[in-house]
Order: sequence, then C-alpha cells, then structure tokens
Amino acid sequence: MVQKMKLMDYHTHNRRCGHALGEIEDYVKLAIKKNFSEIGISDHFPLGAIIDDPQFTEIIKRASMEVKEFPNYIKEIKRLKEKCKNKIRIRLSTELNFATPGRALTNQKKILEPFMDDVDYLLGAIHDIKWHESPIIVIDPREGSEALKKYGFEKITIEYIKKIEKLVETNYFDVIAHFDNYRVLFRPNTPHYSPNSWQKLLDLLDTIKDKGMAIEINTSGVLKEIGSQFPSDEIVKEIIQRDIPLVLGSDAHRPQNIGYMFEEFLEKAKKWGLSHVCRYENREQTLVKI
Ligand SMILES: [Zn+2]
Ligand SMILES: [Zn+2]
Repeated sequence: MVQKMKLMDYHTHNRRCGHALGEIEDYVKLAIKKNFSEIGISDHFPLGAIIDDPQFTEIIKRASMEVKEFPNYIKEIKRLKEKCKNKIRIRLSTELNFATPGRALTNQKKILEPFMDDVDYLLGAIHDIKWHESPIIVIDPREGSEALKKYGFEKITIEYIKKIEKLVETNYFDVIAHFDNYRVLFRPNTPHYSPNSWQKLLDLLDTIKDKGMAIEINTSGVLKEIGSQFPSDEIVKEIIQRDIPLVLGSDAHRPQNIGYMFEEFLEKAKKWGLSHVCRYENREQTLVKI
C-alpha cells in the first residue's frame, strides 16, 4: 500500500476573532486526531491596527481580536507548540487584511515587529476593494449585490486583481489567501472572464511566480456555496502549469472543519499535474511531495 502523505492545514481561526468557535487547542487536537503533520494558526490580525474610527468599534470586535490581545495570541501558540511538539508541528501565523494606502501596512508591521522571529508565514488577504469613485465594497455575499449591480463583474474583478498586485508588490506576505474571493459576490460563481481580465490574471500569476510567493487553496469556498475552492479550477490549472507553490487551507472557523475537502481537492489537482504542496518554517518555504 502506498503511504498517504500527511496533510497540513495552514488557515485556521479561533474564538479570539469574535466569529469563530473554539480555542486554538481545540483546532490543534482535531488536527492531531486527523493525523495531520502540521497545523498553521492564522487568526485574523487585529483590524484595530488599521481602523480607529469609533463608529466601527462593534464591527471590528466581531471581525478580529483586539490589538492588546495579539501578544497573548502569540504566547498561546508558542505554549501549544511546545506542549504538542511530539504530536504535531504547529506553525505560527496570522491573516492580515491587506488595506491600501500603505500607511495601514506600516501600522500592522509595527504591531507585528516584536514577534517576527516567531512567525512561520504570513497570509495576505483581501476582504474589500475601493477605487476613487466607489464606496468601500466589502467582499461579502450579503453586502455585495448592490455593488455588483452598479459596477458589474468586469470592473470588480479588475479592481480586485489590481489590489492583489499591490499586495504582491509589498514583498511582505508569504501566501495569498482566498485568491479569487470576489467570486462570493457573483451568482453563478464561475465567472466568465473577458480576454482582458483573464490576461491580467495570467500576468499576475507570472509576477507571483517571479516573487516566489505561494497561493492558498482555500476549501472554505465549497462551504460558502460557491461550488469550489478558491481559486477556481481554471485558475488552479494555470497555477500548476507555472509551478507556483500551493498551500492548503481550510479557513476553519470551527474545529471540525480542519482539512475540509483536502483529499478531494488533491485527487482532482493531481490529475492536472500537481505534484507538491508547500510548507513554511520561519518564513522559509519548502516543497513537500504529495
Ligand atoms: Zn473569519
Ligand atoms: Zn479571509
């Protein structure tokens, strides 16, 4: 019998962010139970670092931990890392909401700086877009339909791609999370790219390849009823063709979703030529054969 590769889940949340269930340890236990080799803890980085408007205090509380909680979060991961070291490798991370202008990133960096020696990898994620004449468009199916009606698929997709380009240009992140998150705004969720937006996407993939960054396969897309993981199959095939490293992430907001649909994804992607996934330690990337 061929030995199955042990899996790794690099995108998990916990009760600290205000909208996930369970302690970090509950997620770790589940990953051990599922015989995973690694689990990455990547809760939402404090939004308070980039939004200080008191009118958003409540929203922020339900979106991420508070700035003052961040050192405790790191401490807890390090405690578990040590405690569970014979059972599973725990990787320390956080999901940073990428915001423009650059001042936001400066503020985030300032909070992260004292802990950078402990960080194994950083997830960069986009949860909203905005361009000069638009309001802030939150990438959320409950809030996006108006924007979609007003601006259309093409404009939203192109603005989102532009924002990923900016994220990549910062050279600060290791992995791009839920790559085509904009799909949650659309019904049906399989976009028909125009030649223009598709070309922009391919150019972006080439840049990502040059930078040596990884892209996350985020299986929560299946849970969010968009029909597949992020990114969509057609983009995954382009990623595999370019040999861009992939990281597996469930984006679990409850412990039982650790590793959700990983086996199914890998089975599918192997047929498209996927042979490796990647892992991180102290921000160094290594490839693991699948
Ligand atoms: Zn979340
Ligand atoms: Zn996210």
